[in-house]
Amino acid sequence: MDAYNAQCVGAATVALGIARAALACCRLRQAAQAGRQIAKFQGLPWLLAGTAVAIEVARLMVWRAARSPGPAGFPDPVLAARTKILAAETAVKLTNDALHIWGAAGYARANPMERQVRDARKFTLAGGTAQILRNLGAGHVLGMRPPRTRNG
Ligand SMILES: Cc1cc2nc3c(=O)[nH]c(=O)nc-3n(C[C@H](O)[C@H](O)[C@H](O)COP(=O)(O)OP(=O)(O)OC[C@H]3O[C@@H](n4cnc5c(N)ncnc54)[C@H](O)[C@@H]3O)c2cc1C
Repeated sequence: MDAYNAQCVGAATVALGIARAALACCRLRQAAQAGRQIAKFQGLPWLLAGTAVAIEVARLMVWRAARSPGPAGFPDPVLAARTKILAAETAVKLTNDALHIWGAAGYARANPMERQVRDARKFTLAGGTAQILRNLGAGHVLGMRPPRTRNG
């Protein structure tokens, strides 16, 4: 079970990479607009700024979890779970935001955005769903002993 803590942090790292790719997709859209400044459209500058903040927060959390001392030399289980939740949900939000910035073109299967959204969603399911990981976090807040398995 302890090795799952490292797996959680590893999954969070990949999710963070997907979130960063979403930001790159926003930049690509800017370039593809040929003269129209999408960053000047009402609302979009704040969305883009929020994207950069969310990536920084997730990155700091991944670094912290990766260095956290847990059982058997693996990361701390609660921190690892919180990190995977944060990074996965950040990737889901940011890929959806990036798709939105691409408009209908982002929704097309031929556009890499379609794949990015699906890849991001995987991390809220595989390796412990967001609910199961939240159960672990809630038990910790309430001072309960950690469950012996992910399903309690
Ligand atoms: C892309 C992808 C890759 C995967 N790769 C692997 C892999 O390599 N190896 C592997 O073993 N598995 C893998 N999985 C399976 C993954 O681990 C499971 O899908 C996941 O654990 C959820 O199990 P389930 O699909 O049976 O859903 P269920 O357990 O049926 O859950 C359904 C819903 O109920 C919620 N839920 C269930 N129990 C509770 C609870 N106690 N409290 C609150 N909510 C709850 C879940 O969060 C979920 O939203 C992969 C899944 C995906 C999508």
